[in-house]
Amino acid sequence: MIDTIEDIQLEFEDLETAEERVQTLIELGQSLPPFPEEYCTEKYRVVGCQSMVWFVPQWSDERLFFQASSDAPMVRGLAAVLVSAYSGKTPQEILAYPIEGLFEKLHLKSFLSPLRSNGFNSMVAKIREHARSNSVVSVSEQRGNVIQTPDFGPIHAKIDAIRSDFPALSTILESGHKIVYLDNAASSQRPTTVIQSMSNLYSEHYANVHRSGHEFAARTTIKVEDSRSSIAGFINAPSPDQVIFTSGATSAINLVAQSWGKSQLKPGDEILLTEMEHHSNIVPWQQLARDLGVIIKWVPIREDFELDLIAYEKLLTPRTKLVAVTAVSNVLGTINPISQIVTLAHSTGARVLVDAAQAVPHGELDVQQWDADFVVFSGHKMLASTGVGVLYGKRDCLESMPAWQGGGNMIQSVTFDGFTEAGLPHKFEAGTPPIAEIVSLTPAIEYLRQFGAERLLEHERDLSQLAIDGLRAISRVRVYAGDVKNRAGIVTFTCEGVHGEEIAKLLDARGIAIRVGHHCAMPLHAKLGINSSCRASFYLYNTLDEVKQFVEGVDHALRVLRR
Ligand code: PMP
Repeated sequence: MIDTIEDIQLEFEDLETAEERVQTLIELGQSLPPFPEEYCTEKYRVVGCQSMVWFVPQWSDERLFFQASSDAPMVRGLAAVLVSAYSGKTPQEILAYPIEGLFEKLHLKSFLSPLRSNGFNSMVAKIREHARSNSVVSVSEQRGNVIQTPDFGPIHAKIDAIRSDFPALSTILESGHKIVYLDNAASSQRPTTVIQSMSNLYSEHYANVHRSGHEFAARTTIKVEDSRSSIAGFINAPSPDQVIFTSGATSAINLVAQSWGKSQLKPGDEILLTEMEHHSNIVPWQQLARDLGVIIKWVPIREDFELDLIAYEKLLTPRTKLVAVTAVSNVLGTINPISQIVTLAHSTGARVLVDAAQAVPHGELDVQQWDADFVVFSGHKMLASTGVGVLYGKRDCLESMPAWQGGGNMIQSVTFDGFTEAGLPHKFEAGTPPIAEIVSLTPAIEYLRQFGAERLLEHERDLSQLAIDGLRAISRVRVYAGDVKNRAGIVTFTCEGVHGEEIAKLLDARGIAIRVGHHCAMPLHAKLGINSSCRASFYLYNTLDEVKQFVEGVDHALRVLRR
């Protein structure tokens, strides 16, 4: 850590000779933190210095912080004084700062030869230039196109009202901090309307559904079927009876694997999965491969964390019977080009299952535009209850599939000799469904619909871009994120030499909730060459300030842990 400018001034006051001042200046230069090599570029070089000098600005909490380096020890010392003087100031404070007065106070003015003076002035000019443009270090900037701090959109303008709809967000934790909930990809919080829909059902007219004719049963059945219609509208399914309620995305995929897979596939048939799938979209297919002898092939990801579509096309053959792909990666945040993936799969006769668990929380989908054969998702990631999920299927697929589980509700008739199956959707809904949980889907959809998919995604992108830029500015933090435009609000990172668990603990002590681990994507982690990672995931109620607290929290944790 470099000294504060006040400490430097005190130190210089005690020095008597020019030699002592030079020595101290060199030592100051040596105390600068290591300078990341990737910033030793023309973009950050100070033009006008005899030696090589670089200054990189980082933006945090509306203030600029600088890192600097030089190949000349004394110039490095001058750069250290400037880093200390200017870091932590707002752009306005930087532009107003009387740097010449400071050098007089340090008795360094006479030390500046005309040549050094020019170099020194160039360094000051570079810092002021950074202050004027408010630039932040970002991936895109490293590629040459400057991304400015985002202009926050309509959701941000309403954020206080939105947050007041989510009672859990005002919880004060044992640490005394208010919760900063950044674990939305695991499960979201719920608005009051969703919570009330469940308690109203229980306190007003709860009964089992699709069975009795009494008023409670009739009213509850109507509510459940209303939810089915709401979901059909939300995902643009042609008909509500193509919406099947399950206990979650996982059980929906298992249903397709066991029913469609076992009835349609034979040994040697191929299933294409991608390297970025969640275990829920891997293991059911591996079980099928084990039981049936089907072969699983993997679509690789590229270095920019997107699917390699060229490799995908090559893997597709007439042997491919199913492509099972996530719409949004729960680790990388990558949004996959589903329509394109489906078109290519259909051209060789393969069916496509889309895991939309991380896509549906960001607003309406259009399953018909995707032309997907199956789409699955869970309620608990989209503001609704746990214990409920959805399987959408094309009518011909669903009709060709046998019931997976047997029990009440899924039959047309049962005799001592056998049974006949009910029609859609009931043949896939054996037993009492999760009634209150299904009912909670309607207010969740209504809540999300107020904003629309584009705005929800835009808000999350703004937040994740800030997080990515902030994290990338911290030394030896690796962020696993591609093009900001093509991603949802999920930011996964690792910190060299530090365990994610320890970072998460220190964040938790500040009330910031993130997730650490493999996020049910062990094969993807193996591909990335890591065992685990930290993940912050943002949603419509998260704020700019929370992202700043998060980035500062990571920075602080690393300072403590790397000490
Ligand atoms: N797929 C993806 C991409 C997910 O993120 C998740 C949840 N982490 C699932 C499937 C499984 O969802 P659930 O546990 O609700 O069944």
